[in-house]
Amino acid sequence: MRQGTVREEISFEGVGIHSGVFSKVVLHPERENTGIRFLKDSVIVPANVESVVSTDHSTDLGKDGVLIKTVEHLMSVLYMLGIDNLTVELVEGFEVPILDGSGYGFYKLLKDRVLPLDEEKQSVELKEHIQVKNCKAYIQATPYDTFSASYTGSVRGFFENRTVKFKGNIKDIVHARTFCYDYEVEHLFKRGLAKGGNLKNAVVLGNGFVYNKGGLRSHDEPLRHKLLDLVGDIALLGKVVKGHVMSYMGGHNLNYEFIRHLSQKLRSFSKIVFISSSVSTP
Ligand code: ZN
Repeated sequence: MRQGTVREEISFEGVGIHSGVFSKVVLHPERENTGIRFLKDSVIVPANVESVVSTDHSTDLGKDGVLIKTVEHLMSVLYMLGIDNLTVELVEGFEVPILDGSGYGFYKLLKDRVLPLDEEKQSVELKEHIQVKNCKAYIQATPYDTFSASYTGSVRGFFENRTVKFKGNIKDIVHARTFCYDYEVEHLFKRGLAKGGNLKNAVVLGNGFVYNKGGLRSHDEPLRHKLLDLVGDIALLGKVVKGHVMSYMGGHNLNYEFIRHLSQKLRSFSKIVFISSSVSTP
């Protein structure tokens, strides 16, 4: 599989779901082995595990006083489209626009503008089982010849312990919108989060019902969104993972523990890694 970038400069804009601040973003094509990186106020923030500064309801990156919030949906779409070299410049604002709450807006913008480059992608080939845990929740990865992921969880009042899968078909997860439960809304506002959130860019779930007029895009949309987030966080490894990653009730915190653990193991290897380990987080 070859590395990829975009054919031309691409711009988009919109409000950030947590900050409520308007952002203007320009995507710049880059050469092989540049990686994905964010640019704001002349500071380059590489989209990698070391740049993560918060995983509280979103994955935020930072460096030298510059903060880039909520990178996960864009990162997920870039990973799924095979774009691994790009400068994401925030001309205004500091949060990636939420658009409709899913990855669809990024997908629509990028799907016909992917430019394959000459060099092969870097990959992580899992040879053995790896697992991170946090109480009941866990993420485990097992060897597989390509990348695939699954998410198992429950949606209060709708169903318990269902599994959704991603096996390379971007349309399985790209439409799924971000969500929260009604009882969480006040708490999010109190903590200064979700300032840009509304029913046009997020699903609000009651106990067995949905506040949004059109309902859900699929009965398991919240789980599909969790999978979109998981893929976006895995994209921070900057390499294609050859393995099956399975999340049971995981979220950004556990996703981060997983990629941090994996990247620690990777540091001394360039292309292929042999992994056998298990860790628990408090
Ligand atoms: Zn999300």
